[in-house]
Amino acid sequence: MRQISIATLERQVKTRIAKLGQCEPFIMGSLVESKRKCGNKKCACANGGELHSAWIITKHGVGNKTRSIYVPVAMLPEVRKWADEYKKVKELLQEIDELSEQIIAATKARKKAITAGASK
Ligand SMILES: [Zn+2]
Repeated sequence: MRQISIATLERQVKTRIAKLGQCEPFIMGSLVESKRKCGNKKCACANGGELHSAWIITKHGVGNKTRSIYVPVAMLPEVRKWADEYKKVKELLQEIDELSEQIIAATKARKKAITAGASK
């Protein structure tokens, strides 16, 4: 495996942080469509007709708890953008996290190499 230098890794982290700074508003959840009955027994939905569509933001909180937030139809285009933006933010955060781990590993490897070299 090719060893990437710490300076390169740090530069990659900085690039991603700059991208994070350019991110638009976001919401930490996924937008899902839910089909349901409205509760009115006389409505078509209660009599085998088409169900009502509702849009929900599903948020995964601490300890696997899921929270659902109903999204008003008028806000749908905006909230869809927020949810999409979060995918981007999440990806960047994961990349920064992985790079930081690599920097730790590379620092350890370098220290080991220096120590090994000195003991000769
Ligand atoms: Zn209905």
